[in-house]
Amino acid sequence: MDFSEDQIHRYARHIILPEIGGLGQARLLDSRVLVVGAGGLGSPVILYLAAAGIGTIGVIDDDVVELSNLQRQVLHATDRIGMAKVESAQAAVAAINPDVRVVPIKARLDRDNARAIIADFQVVADGSDNFATRFLVNDACRLEARTLVSAAILRFDGQLSTFRPGGPCYRCIYREAPPEGQIPTCSQAGVLGAIAGTMGALQATEVVKELLGIGESMAGRLLIYDALGVAFRNVRVKRDLGCPLCGDHPSITDLSGHGSTAHVCG
Ligand SMILES: [Zn+2]
Repeated sequence: MDFSEDQIHRYARHIILPEIGGLGQARLLDSRVLVVGAGGLGSPVILYLAAAGIGTIGVIDDDVVELSNLQRQVLHATDRIGMAKVESAQAAVAAINPDVRVVPIKARLDRDNARAIIADFQVVADGSDNFATRFLVNDACRLEARTLVSAAILRFDGQLSTFRPGGPCYRCIYREAPPEGQIPTCSQAGVLGAIAGTMGALQATEVVKELLGIGESMAGRLLIYDALGVAFRNVRVKRDLGCPLCGDHPSITDLSGHGSTAHVCG
């Protein structure tokens, strides 16, 4: 371990934890995490991963910062309206931690680029807000054997799970995307801004746990958060032997079944 004086001070509260220590912190500094969407969930995920000293954070998003984002997307700022979200993310991270390199990917994740982008990282945090992207990320992660920590928010509710190679995948819970328009989007149904913080902080926690291999993984479990009832519920998730992606007779072996583009936002 070759920490500078500044790094020893910066990460002291991590290093003192027996589960992390100097070795764990060094591992975080060597880690590569991809965050899909620099929006409501991506904001706290990116902020906490940057503060934690995750050495390389890939951020994929093709949007620019808009005024209506700022109610929940705490990564961005009023004076960065109109700036590409990936550039805004880069500015925010640079202000927090010079140890962290952001790889800005100003693009839409699509069937042609998803596998190559995802293969370049160890763990993927999905904070996209549409089903097309969620399924694409799930399928690409499985095909590239990458761990996916997935979260979603709507109105006053949140969900979180981890999908590891060999375990159940997103399609084991939701076989395929619902028809367009059946499930309202955040812009149609609304979302309490702080829910993004709650779920995004949980997501960042699970990413760090997966990178370090500590604690109990969320793999095989789905966490459901009801903010109005102040209730957290854990539901068991099993691998579906009939899953078209990870079941016994998979019919999905590449990304050709996906649309050519999926919009990443949130
Ligand atoms: Zn599956």
